[in-house]
Amino acid sequence: MIQYLKSTNPFENKETAMEKKRLFVLAPIIAGFFAVAFVQIFVYPGRQQEVWHLFEILTVLAAFAFYLPGAALGAIASIAVGLKFIPSTSGMMLDYSRLALMAGVIGWYASRQHFQQEHLGRLLMVDRLTGLHNYSYFIDRLDEERQRADRFGSRLSLIMLDIDYFKPFNDKFGHQKGNELLKHMAEIFKVQVRGVDIVSRYGGEEFAILLPNTSHGAAEEVAERIRAGVEISDFGATSGTGTCTISAGVATYPTDADDDLQLIDRADEALYRAKEGGRNRVVVFGAENSKQEAIS
Ligand code: GH3
Ligand code: MG
Ligand code: MG
Repeated sequence: MIQYLKSTNPFENKETAMEKKRLFVLAPIIAGFFAVAFVQIFVYPGRQQEVWHLFEILTVLAAFAFYLPGAALGAIASIAVGLKFIPSTSGMMLDYSRLALMAGVIGWYASRQHFQQEHLGRLLMVDRLTGLHNYSYFIDRLDEERQRADRFGSRLSLIMLDIDYFKPFNDKFGHQKGNELLKHMAEIFKVQVRGVDIVSRYGGEEFAILLPNTSHGAAEEVAERIRAGVEISDFGATSGTGTCTISAGVATYPTDADDDLQLIDRADEALYRAKEGGRNRVVVFGAENSKQEAIS
């Protein structure tokens, strides 16, 4: 699940930016170690003990930025320099022990904080049942992708999908089987889209797929592929529940809509028409309109 999310989410980009920042502090820390060692050996050879305490600051920084590996390396380097250049009679054992303990605690705590934040970040944007993105993530990305479409003059398509007759399915086979079906749908959607497309659970048994840089025609093809994929999928065969279908509505920004919310409305409208038209079908907003106009 996380593997899948990694391909498309901005949280991942933030993580990468953080990684880069961490690497950025690596050079000053290493330079600091060499600078302190140089000062200790050549500038104040008589006062190694006082100068050595500067290593403590650098080790704390290393533990903070690189967690336990940073703590271990910092402590080992500091203690090694101390053992080499400070006379063994000067009672440094307490300082070494304190440094090792402090580095270990800070390294452990920093890594714990980091992983907890990462976990929380993922929880905030993932739908727990299906492993897809959730509604709030979808809304954020819609805004972001719409802005990108404005900037580059590209198109942004939205497919809204809804399972047909899901309520009777739940009533007949139970909620658990219904949940399994939702998960099964999510798997089908994921394999049918590109890595840059954003598949979300919009709510209940409705899903939204954002397709950046995609026109009506291409989005319709994707929706049709998904619809056909669901129709022939073996969920019914393995679970004994029979086949299941979905309906889909497609709309494109800026062709059909002036803003994010209107794009959702338009795709929803097309989805409504797909339901009205008999279900298990894809309706494209613009095409449906022109058909209606041609009829009237
Ligand atoms: P239509 O073809 O018009 O879409 O009919 P429908 O029965 O699918 O539509 P309706 O909106 O009447 O029913 C949606 C159902 O989806 C109702 C609810 O029980 C079910 N549902 C929503 N969320 C979940 C969920 O998380 N798990 C399960 N098992 N069912 C859910
Ligand atoms: Mg529904
Ligand atoms: Mg439904």
